[in-house]
Amino acid sequence: MMAAVLKPMTRSSDLSKLASRSLAAVWHPCTQMARAAVVPPLAITRGEGAWLFDEEGRRYFDANSSWWVNLFGHCDARINEAIKQQLDLLPHVMLAGCTHEPAVLLAEKLKALTGDALGHCFFASDGASAVEIALKMSFHSWRNLGQTDKREFVCIRHGYHGETIGALAVTDVAVFRDAYDPLLMRAHVAASPDSRQGPDAQALALADLRRILTERNGHVAALIIEPLVQCAAGMAMHEPSYLRGVRHLCDEFGIHLIADEIAVGCGRSGTFFAFEQGQCGWPDFITLSKGISGGTLPLSLVLTTEAVFQSFWSEDVARGFLHSHSYTGNALACAAANAVLDRFASDAVLEKNLEQAALLAAAFAPLADDPRVEHLRQRGMILAFDLRVESAGERFSERFHLAARERELLIRPIGRTVYLMPPYLIDAATAQFLFDTVLATLDEVCDVA
Ligand SMILES: *Cc1c(COP(=O)(O)O)cnc(C)c1O
Repeated sequence: MMAAVLKPMTRSSDLSKLASRSLAAVWHPCTQMARAAVVPPLAITRGEGAWLFDEEGRRYFDANSSWWVNLFGHCDARINEAIKQQLDLLPHVMLAGCTHEPAVLLAEKLKALTGDALGHCFFASDGASAVEIALKMSFHSWRNLGQTDKREFVCIRHGYHGETIGALAVTDVAVFRDAYDPLLMRAHVAASPDSRQGPDAQALALADLRRILTERNGHVAALIIEPLVQCAAGMAMHEPSYLRGVRHLCDEFGIHLIADEIAVGCGRSGTFFAFEQGQCGWPDFITLSKGISGGTLPLSLVLTTEAVFQSFWSEDVARGFLHSHSYTGNALACAAANAVLDRFASDAVLEKNLEQAALLAAAFAPLADDPRVEHLRQRGMILAFDLRVESAGERFSERFHLAARERELLIRPIGRTVYLMPPYLIDAATAQFLFDTVLATLDEVCDVA
C-alpha cells in the first residue's frame, strides 16, 4: 500500500518563493518532509542581535539561539570582523603537517581555561564528530596502555550526543535512535539524575551507575555525560553534586569521564564549563562545539589530559591517533572562536550572564503558580518548564511554535517542554517580552487548566 499523502494546508501561492524552492530542493534536518509541506520553513534573510528577519521584514526573537549555537547575537561585530580579517589572510590549511596561529591560540586559551588540566586540543567540525573522537581516543588510549578489554561505553538514560553512528550508540533519545538501532554498537545506559524524578533521583542514578561499572568491571573505557543539563532530553537538569559522584566512580573503577559540553559549555550553564560547578577537578575529556564559534561557523574540539596524550606518544605510527576531517581546525572557525573567547576575557560575560539569568528567573517566576505548568527550572541561561499532559494536548510543540511565531518569538518546544536558551543579550525589557509572549502563547494553545 502506498503511504498516505499529506495534503498541504498552505496553498503554494501562500508560500514564499524561497520556502517553496527550499521544499523542492533542500532536505531539512530533523524534519519529516511531508510535514514540512504542511508547515513550511520560515525563510530568513538576515539576523541582527537576538532577532531574525524574514523576507517580508517580519522579525522573530531567536529564543533557542539557532539550535543553541549563538552566544552574542547574530552578526556580532567583533566576531564578524575577526572572520573577515582571517578570510583575507588564510581561510584554511590542513592541520596535518601544517599549523596556524588561530588554532594554536585557541588551544592555548582553552588549556588556560582548564587550569592546564586539559592541555591537548583535537579539532573537528561538528559536535557528533567530537563525540566520535572522544570515544575512539578513550578506547585507543586504554589499548595503547595494554588494557584492550576496555572497549565498552556507558551513557545516561535520555542522553544525547549526536547522530552519527558512533555518537548515536551513546544517545538514548528514541526518536533519533530507534530506526538505526540495528546498526549501533551496544552501550550501557545508566539511570538519569533528572531532578524531576524526585529527591532521590541522583542517588539512584549513581547507584545504577555503580551497578553497571561493577558488573562490567575492567571492560568499560569511558562514561559519557552531559553535565548539569541533558538538553535534548528536554532540558532535564541535575545538581552539581552528581558530577562529584560521577567523577568519584570513574576514578574508583578506572574509566575515563567524557563531559559532553557541546550544549552546556561556553557560559551557558553559569560557568564557562558546566563541569566546573561540580568542584571535583576535571573530566578526562571535554567536547565543545555549538557556542564555541558564537553561531558563525562549524567547529568542534576535544580537550584531554596529559595522561591520555602521553599514552599515544610513541615511535609507532599505529599508536598515534590517526583520526582526521578535511576541515579539521579550520582557520576561519578558529578565528571566530578566538573572538568568542576574547569576549569572555574582556567583557565579564559570565558575571553579566548571572544578572541576565536573574532577570529571566524574575520574569518567569509567576509560572511557578500556573496550574498548566510543572517543573519550572533554570540553570544559568537555560530556562525550562513542562506543560502538564492535560494542558498540552495534541501536537503541542508545533502549535506552540506556530502561535509564538505570530508574536515575533521563534521557539521550538521539545515535546511538552518549553525552553528558552537565548543569546546572552537579555535585559529587563527583553525578559518581560519573553515572559509576556510565552504566556500569551500558552493562553492561546493550551486547553484551560
Ligand atoms: C548538539 C549536540 C551534539 C551534536 O552536535 P552536532 O554539531 O549537532 O553534531 C552532541 N552533544 C550534545 C550534548 C549536543 O547538544
